[in-house]
This record gives sequence, C-alpha cells and structure tokens, in this order.
Amino acid sequence: MTQEKWGQLRQKLLKTVGQNNYTTWIEPLEFSDLSDGVAVFNVPTNFMGNYVSQNFADLILYELNSAGETVQRVTFEVAANSTTRPMRSVESPAEPEVEQARVQPASASFTANNPLEELQAAPLDARFTFDSFVVGKPNELAHAAARRVAEGGPVTFNPLVLYGGVGLGKTHLMHAIAWELKSKRPDLNVLYLSAEQFMYRFVQALRERKMLDFKHLFRSVDVLMVDDVQFIAGKDSTQEEFFHTFNALVDQNKQIIISADRAPGEIKDLEDRVKSRLQCGLVVDLHPTDYELRLGILQTKVQQNRSTYPDLKIADGVLEFLAHRISTNVRVLEGALTRLFAFASLVGREIDMDLTQDCLADVLRASERKITVEEIQRKVSDYYNIRLSDIIGPKRLRSYARPRQVAMYLCKQLTSRSLPEIGRRFGGRDHTTVMHGVKRIEELKLTDGQIAEDVEMLRRSLEA
Ligand code: ADP
Ligand code: MG
Repeated sequence: MTQEKWGQLRQKLLKTVGQNNYTTWIEPLEFSDLSDGVAVFNVPTNFMGNYVSQNFADLILYELNSAGETVQRVTFEVAANSTTRPMRSVESPAEPEVEQARVQPASASFTANNPLEELQAAPLDARFTFDSFVVGKPNELAHAAARRVAEGGPVTFNPLVLYGGVGLGKTHLMHAIAWELKSKRPDLNVLYLSAEQFMYRFVQALRERKMLDFKHLFRSVDVLMVDDVQFIAGKDSTQEEFFHTFNALVDQNKQIIISADRAPGEIKDLEDRVKSRLQCGLVVDLHPTDYELRLGILQTKVQQNRSTYPDLKIADGVLEFLAHRISTNVRVLEGALTRLFAFASLVGREIDMDLTQDCLADVLRASERKITVEEIQRKVSDYYNIRLSDIIGPKRLRSYARPRQVAMYLCKQLTSRSLPEIGRRFGGRDHTTVMHGVKRIEELKLTDGQIAEDVEMLRRSLEA
C-alpha cells in the first residue's frame, strides 16, 4: 500500500469517526509497512498505540480490506526513531523499550473479530450474477426490483425485501446486486452478510466491549445487505441492534436489502417494530418455480457447462423430463444436472432417459408425485380382475403375464425406479424380464388397440 492510498483511506475514516477522533487518533498514525497481511503503523506513544488498537483497529482493518488490501492484522508500534517519542532521551539505548513498546493490540482477538474475514469465508459467489439469473413469471418482479437497486441511483424504496422459499434465488439476486454495484459504483461501500454473521459480529463486539467499533462499522456502509433475516427472530438483543443499525442507515438514506424465507409479517418472534420497518419498503416475493422457468434454468445451465464438458450430449426430452419431475427447488434441479454431467462424462455417454433415471433415481424418487410401484400393481390387478399376488407371483399364465407386463410398463413410465428395482418388486424378477415386458407392451400398444386403451385408462387413473 502506498502512502498516498493511506492518505485517501484516512479521509474515509474521517467521515466515520468524526473530526475530533480523527485529529486525536487517526491523523498521527504513520503508515509504515504492509506485508504478509500485517499492516504496521507507527505511533508516537505507547498509550496512543493501545488506545487506537482497542478502539479503531477494527475500523482500520475494515477500511484497508474494503480498499482492496489483504490485511488480517493491524499493529501499532512506537518507532525506535520516532522524533516525538516522549519522556525518554533519544540517545538512551532503546532495545528493551522497543520490545515493550511493541503494542500488543490483542491482535489475536481482533483478527478473529474482523468482519471481512467472515465475509471472505462466505465471499460473493462469482456465479451469482444477473447474467446467469433466469427470469420467468415467478421471479420477474423480484428481479426487476433487484435490478433497480443495483443501478445505485437515488434510493427509492428502502428497504428492499426479497422473500421466498428455499432455493428460489434470493441469495443469487443479492450477490448479483453486490456484483453490479461493485462494478458500477466502486465508490460505494457495499456490505453483504447473512443475519447469522450479523449476530455473530454483534455478540463478539459485546463480549469484547467493542460496540463502538461495531456501530461505526455498520453505520459506515452505503449499502447493507442482510441475507436470511428470519434467523434473528427470537434473538432479542440482536434484533434490537439490527433495528438501530437499520434506522441509522435509513436515516442517512443508505440502501438496505433484506432477504427472508417468508413475508416479514409472518416471521414468528420477529418484533413488531422490526416487522413494520421491513414492511415500509418494497416487499417482493419469489414464487415457486413453474415448468417454463425450470426448463429455462436447465437450458441456461447446460450452456454454462459447455466449456467444462465440451462433448456433452443430451437427448431430446431429458431437460423437459427433469423440469417436469423436479419441482422442489432450483438448488435440487442444479444438483441433479451437475451429477448428470459428471456421470455422463465419466462413462462417456450421451445423457439419455435411461442414464438420467439411473443416475438420478434418488432425486427423482424424493420429488416424485406419489405414484408407487405398489399402487400400480394394485390398480392393474383391480382393472384386470386378478389378485395382487398373481401379478407379483411366479405364474406364467397369459392371463397373469400380460397384466404383469402392463404393470411393469407403467412402473417404468410413471415412477423413477430402475429396471432392477422394478424387477425386485415383481417377486424378484430379473431386470431383463422387466425390460422384455416393457418392450412387449410398447410393441403391443401399436398393434393391439385393446392394450393401448388399457394402458391409457390405467395411466390416467393413476395420474389423477
Ligand atoms: P435461496 O437463497 O433463495 O435459498 P439461492 O439464491 O441460493 O436460493 O439459489 C439456489 C441455487 O439456485 C443457486 O445456485 C442459484 O444460482 C440457483 N438459482 C435460483 N434461481 C435461479 C434463477 N432464476 N436462474 C438461475 N439460477 C437460479
Ligand atoms: Mg439463501
């Protein structure tokens, strides 16, 4: 870091700490060295070193890191050649004094205490940008609001509250806002953290009697984003502090962006005043995904993965199948796709329906509509007026074998069970037997109108 840069940083500190503090404590600091993540400042006196280290070290650390320096620790030293060194003659042998004078700024504690360290632990995800966010009906409003805030123009709605169920893109949108602001408005101090981190910071500050630093820190940001705010519900003192931070920033007309897993009014154990504060802004929800959005997301992800898997081939209908079947949340959808890519590239095969069903059996089962093998067997035996045990059992009579094959075919079509699994549920039959049965019905459907009708009737009644 250059002296010049430190000069600029000092001006930022001036804004945060006020003129008096600045003149007394910050201005006299002489930047000496920054290496291996340790920034060293010369101070004129021991006392001053101690004071600054206890009261402003966090803040300085924070500003250094915000300015792009990588600093884990700040130390303050009384320089051996300091001209202003008091009370000792300059000639006196300095060795032991210097040792002593090396201020031990409880550096261990405020290192662990560094807010940026936690932010680094959960840094902005490079993938979570507006470019990679797929917009559809369920999220278009949230997206538009996020875009608006990301322009960094005058604050029009404050706070912006994004809420919605797990995996619907709240964190993605918040990171996207942060990225966008970073590039468009590098002058702004943007702080993103989870409510959990906020609480952690707060508790630490309390424990170490550094509330002043804590307040400075949070009051000095231009854009504050707190993710998953439902986390602080029921945590009274954290809520209290959050409320004050919140108000201070709103008063300064600083943008606040909040996310929660449900509407503010519905968060249990969230204080009413916090609720009503949140509701003062723009509250938008991310609706559960619909089929089109899921398909859009899948298609986008496939494109994004082209560079990693250049030979990737996906059979027609696979993405549609996944979009149809995995409706829980986007995270699961993504996970499924990632697994599919990895698997396909390992075995060097095109991703077709069979591979998809094998590879994702567990995921598909977990999010499957409630059609089970047993249900199919029961429906089919009712339909053909035979006993359930005859469908499962070993009898090879045509009057049992055909319904059995129909049931197998439906299991393959309507459940995510693999062929061996289906075989097992049909009295421990081999998967080749199941495969043969499925093929047979596929053929018969084309030539035998009665079979085609049976299958169709059964399918409809099972899906109803
Ligand atoms: P939340 O914070 O709401 O629980 P996330 O933002 O962490 O959800 O989203 C979960 C995953 O789904 C992330 O990997 C994210 O990139 C992805 N995702 C969610 N919605 C979209 C979308 N509309 N377009 C692209 N990816 C999305
Ligand atoms: Mg999230």
